[in-house]
Amino acid sequence: MSSPELTELERLRLTPGHIERVVVLTGAGISAESGIPTFRAVDGYWSRYRPEDLATPEAFAQNPQVVWEWYLARRHTIAQADPNAGHYALVEMDKLLSGQFTLITQNVDGLHQRAGSHDLFELHGNIFINRCSLCSRRFSDEVLNFQELPPVCPSCRGAIRPDVVWFGENLNISTVEDAFTRAREATLFLSIGTSSVVHPAATLPIVAAENGAFLIEVNPELTPISEGADLSLRAPASRVLPRITEMIRTILTSTASKKLS
Ligand code: NAD
Ligand code: ZN
Repeated sequence: MSSPELTELERLRLTPGHIERVVVLTGAGISAESGIPTFRAVDGYWSRYRPEDLATPEAFAQNPQVVWEWYLARRHTIAQADPNAGHYALVEMDKLLSGQFTLITQNVDGLHQRAGSHDLFELHGNIFINRCSLCSRRFSDEVLNFQELPPVCPSCRGAIRPDVVWFGENLNISTVEDAFTRAREATLFLSIGTSSVVHPAATLPIVAAENGAFLIEVNPELTPISEGADLSLRAPASRVLPRITEMIRTILTSTASKKLS
């Protein structure tokens, strides 16, 4: 890896202490290289709308058909996409650190799971799950009729919506609490591909750093947390994450051989 923006990473000396409890927070940027636009890079037809105006309960109440058309278009883009080297590096990191690794995502695209990650925290839900806006029951696509939008709940006739957290809505409290507990206990926190403006997710790296974690940010752009990070890399996730995974592998291998000798 020779590009100038990554020389800082090469200089980084991670120790066994750093990797005792690793927590990773991902945002839309990790999936950008899979061809899934971030909210701040939406193009084409939907650029006429701001995501903040579509991904809200108010928009759904006023025009559920337009909101569903947007979600079905996004589902289509996601279904065509494949996980990239960034997603796969985190699967590998999880295997290496089993039990000492937590993955928290703001993404709703399910690409981490398709790459092979399990037991992750999906803070903002999943775009492929349907939920009734009245009775909260969840349904698979097969039992719903998408010919007329919004689909209607087979149980109570309420309007079906995507099972995602919209702007202005609360996150699942126990998921958030668990995520904050992991962040507070982290020895290394990686903030990957997130603009760090949507809270409470954006508070996680701050809380981790306040409690002693070494904070690494990976984002081609500066964000509000860049200045406070121990290492802020202006580089794409797919280049940096495989390298960090290899660094962790090296630490574990040398610790294991020291124990043997
Ligand atoms: P965001 O759109 O606000 O920010 C994405 C960030 O990724 C930007 O700061 C950008 O500079 C960075 N980035 C772009 N390419 C990158 C790369 N190759 N490597 C690393 N970083 C890169 O997204 P967010 O911070 O996740 O928060 C906004 C909300 O958008 C979230 O609630 C999320 O649920 C939703 N969202 C999700 C998806 C998805 O599931 N893929 C897509 C769009 C938006
Ligand atoms: Zn219902």
